[in-house]
Amino acid sequence: MYYNEKTIIFKDGAFVHPEQTKIDAYSQTLHYGYGVFEGIRSYETAQGAQIFKAKEHYNRLKRSCELLSIPFNWEVDYLIEKTYELLELNHLSDAYIRPIVVLNPNMSLTAPDNSSLLIMVWEWGSYLGDKLLNVFASSYLRPHPKSTHIEAKANGHYVNSILATSEAKSKGYDEALLNDVDGFLAEAPGANLFIEKSGKIHTPALGNILPGITRSVVIELCNKLGIEVIQDRFKPEFLQEADAAFFCGTAAEVIGIKYYNDIELPLSFDNSLGKKLQTEYKKLVLNQISL
Ligand code: PMP
Repeated sequence: MYYNEKTIIFKDGAFVHPEQTKIDAYSQTLHYGYGVFEGIRSYETAQGAQIFKAKEHYNRLKRSCELLSIPFNWEVDYLIEKTYELLELNHLSDAYIRPIVVLNPNMSLTAPDNSSLLIMVWEWGSYLGDKLLNVFASSYLRPHPKSTHIEAKANGHYVNSILATSEAKSKGYDEALLNDVDGFLAEAPGANLFIEKSGKIHTPALGNILPGITRSVVIELCNKLGIEVIQDRFKPEFLQEADAAFFCGTAAEVIGIKYYNDIELPLSFDNSLGKKLQTEYKKLVLNQISL
């Protein structure tokens, strides 16, 4: 369960219990997956609860709405303030934060003239756990960037993610890794990919992936640490012949990959650049260092 009788959520400016939020049975979000959302984390730091990259996440929520012609009636600073209030009301500081823009009743396939915003918070451990991953080369491809706006965090895109994760788990793997429509490595169902080879870090270029906020942070950390980052298109063979790899995302944080389709990556994660970046990422979210 994500809530109990004391849980409070934000809905269109008010704080209410989740069961007081009536999602209309004729909502376009429910019927067509037409809506957008975010995944944000706050951390308990020496300075109290800190929402990591709050502005970037709410800006991406706004941008997702713009890309999909969904009205977004909110100021980012107001939403950040309300999210801090929501954390306090729920007595949470280490938390996962889920804003979602839900659409009104409309059974037509037309753009809406209004929307609702909900924000939920709950305690959630690292999404992919803390053990090194055994990753499956998915039979599913990421959505074609000309079939949708792939850089929008749209609800409907996550059917593809659920299919890929379910397939990987049904075959005994921890998580999937999907290619793009041209057969290049793209991303995990809910995280971005980084590959270490010959002392350099490689990551799929933007265009066929969600532009992850953690991905940007990892690139900035690499710049700070003097690690070269190459953003390009990489075939699956590149990963098969890599030294080490990891996924990153707000929910997953930074998590090492040990096997890709049962091929063991030769460099132990503890000796990899991924480990160094994982350690620095942790310090950053806890406000112990800055970029
Ligand atoms: N790719 C996909 C498909 C995702 O769902 C996520 C999680 N939002 C990411 C990458 C990582 O993005 P972020 O670092 O902004 O959480």
